[in-house]
Amino acid sequence: MAGFTDTFLREQLLDRRERLNSAMAVSQQGGSLVALLNEVDSALARMDEGTYGLCEACHESVEKTRLLADPLVRYCLDHLTPDQRRVLQDDLDLASQIQRDLLPREDLAFDGWQVAYHYRTLGPVSGDYCDVIASAEDGKDWFFILGDASGKGVAASMLMAHLHAIFRALVATGLPTHQLVERASRVFCESTVSPYFATLVCGRAWGSGEVELCNAGHCPPLLIQAGQVTRLEATGLPLGLFCEGRYSVETLRLRPGDSLLLYTDGLTEARNVADEEYGEERLSNLAGERHAPRPRPLLDACLDDLSTFLSGSPLKDDLTLMAICRTDGAHT
Ligand SMILES: [Zn+2]
Repeated sequence: MAGFTDTFLREQLLDRRERLNSAMAVSQQGGSLVALLNEVDSALARMDEGTYGLCEACHESVEKTRLLADPLVRYCLDHLTPDQRRVLQDDLDLASQIQRDLLPREDLAFDGWQVAYHYRTLGPVSGDYCDVIASAEDGKDWFFILGDASGKGVAASMLMAHLHAIFRALVATGLPTHQLVERASRVFCESTVSPYFATLVCGRAWGSGEVELCNAGHCPPLLIQAGQVTRLEATGLPLGLFCEGRYSVETLRLRPGDSLLLYTDGLTEARNVADEEYGEERLSNLAGERHAPRPRPLLDACLDDLSTFLSGSPLKDDLTLMAICRTDGAHT
């Protein structure tokens, strides 16, 4: 625990001691406050001895993020008591449920469109962001968003929930697509501490078959038309890197039978036992060969191929795929 963290944690502990001392001067609950004060004093003493931040069971370092959240933590994750473990598990279960509830309904249909997605978390929660939002105006257009917040686990899932709230609020303003993403980037940038960022694709589709696509540094979506697959490159930098980031949109027109396939790098960067990467090329070839004009079969084909490729090797990242198919009006 050297440098910034050390100084920061010492200040946190000194601040706690001061607060506890002033609370004790006016409170009747002397006993519990004395116990807390002893814990703070003991942490400060361990800092002076140089043993602060080491697990009292195994003497390895306690996870830094946990110390920042609670400077009094004395055991690493591996050496929590059964009760502490149960509390932590309950928290994660609840967070996981809340995140599931933030996902859009499965297998949605809009005028001339069908959408499906697959969302698989590596741990209890995911840093992938996936949403489908009907426009507030007249229901003629709708948004689809797929993104990936930097980092993994709980911290990334909080960024995901943050993005969800930002986009849900901004869609209702009726802003043009590029301005919506610019505004989202600014809010995200101003409310998160560097170096956190998120890559994402924000698309807006109309019943006419027109689609606007804004790609903020995310894996290129694939446009599939009659067996031809086109990569749609990023049109801007990831969200949150620069508060004043500018974005542009690419406009497409899809005909019945055409599809868009969006994914996170949990798919293309998946590795098999031979340490080979799944890769964009394999995905692109598969999308061309196995293209179905319905989103769910297209996703199933991708997932089957990934599972064949992995042949039992575990995924190392969250995984999200979204397929958007243009149907003729009669089939919606
Ligand atoms: Zn330990």
